[in-house]
Amino acid sequence: MCATNTVPLKARDLGRYQRQMVLPQVGIDGQKRLLESRVLVVGAGALGSAAAMYLAAAGIGTLGVVDGDRVELSNLHRQILHNEGAVGTLKTTSAEERLHLINPHIQVRTHNHFLSAENVLEVFSHYDLIVNGSDNFPTRYLVNDAAVFLKRPMVDSAILRFEGQLAVYRPGLGCYRCLFPSPPPKGSVPDCADAGIFGAVAGVLGSMQAVETIKLLLGLTSPDSGVFLVYDALQSTWHRIPFHRNPSCVVCGDQPTITQPIDYESFCGLGDPVATPPRSDETGSDISLDPHQAKHFMTGSHAAVIDIRELSDFHAGHIPQAQHCALEDLDSLVADGAYQTPLLLVCAVGVRSAYAAQYLRLRGYDAWSLAGGVDAWRRSELPWSVDDPSPH
Ligand SMILES: [Zn+2]
Repeated sequence: MCATNTVPLKARDLGRYQRQMVLPQVGIDGQKRLLESRVLVVGAGALGSAAAMYLAAAGIGTLGVVDGDRVELSNLHRQILHNEGAVGTLKTTSAEERLHLINPHIQVRTHNHFLSAENVLEVFSHYDLIVNGSDNFPTRYLVNDAAVFLKRPMVDSAILRFEGQLAVYRPGLGCYRCLFPSPPPKGSVPDCADAGIFGAVAGVLGSMQAVETIKLLLGLTSPDSGVFLVYDALQSTWHRIPFHRNPSCVVCGDQPTITQPIDYESFCGLGDPVATPPRSDETGSDISLDPHQAKHFMTGSHAAVIDIRELSDFHAGHIPQAQHCALEDLDSLVADGAYQTPLLLVCAVGVRSAYAAQYLRLRGYDAWSLAGGVDAWRRSELPWSVDDPSPH
């Protein structure tokens, strides 16, 4: 492990980092700031691989990696820190070797264990910023809460199949729980092993985490609101949703009720009566309705059906009652109070619509998501409408 002495810059650093230092937003001062920074990457998996490699290359002076897992062959299509020779070894060891090959002049600190309510605050206390690449809900809430308690910014990402989300949470500007106050019912969101993951999507989102991390360290991030991005690799689209702190958030709100790490396994497995908002149990589900439930719901409640797919996909076929609205236009759609009825959000496979429904619920709307999206709706052979092609 190389000791780091970052002040003043060495001639070697001038050579190594010249192409980014020539950017006026970086410069010598910015590079020194990066070399003095301490960043922790949670998880040496798919997201952590891309994020850590770019952060090492950019000269983050102290780069921590926390993971208790070992490398498996099935990891290698997306976890590009590791190679076939590392199968069976600790991910932290494999990560340290790879990161030092990329940049031997930074300090890599490895934490060869999983994060827990008992150790998280001690580990985080050594770092300025947290990059979250964890792949399960208990760890995601644990990492979020600890970052809030210690006032550390967190660059968060999650990926599944062909989709990814990325969020930048800064102290005072909102946290993961502001957007997602309660975890999804256990088993309702499949993991990568069941649902699959397109490896390069992890590279895109992990690289974005590195970009947003370096921007935060250099003070290049827009100061007024949080950033939440949704990437759809099949559609080749990014959607950006601004968000703000939720004053009633249980960890970062005005009167927080959770002020130290809790039991996250029970929170995510059983729900927490303090943190879980009241919800209808008529359908037995949380925020998502399967196609037949949705059909009954639309009839019984006169719900407005909002389709957030691309406009061209909407014209190619949609649920007959649906109207189109781009994800980023949801605020203006509901801004004039036009919707007193429930809202049913619809997308291709039910992932983005679940985000959208969560987002609208936080704004007080009775919003629901069509589970499985229009794919599941069509498989259920429910009514479908195709717009006439415009005459030319
Ligand atoms: Zn919050």
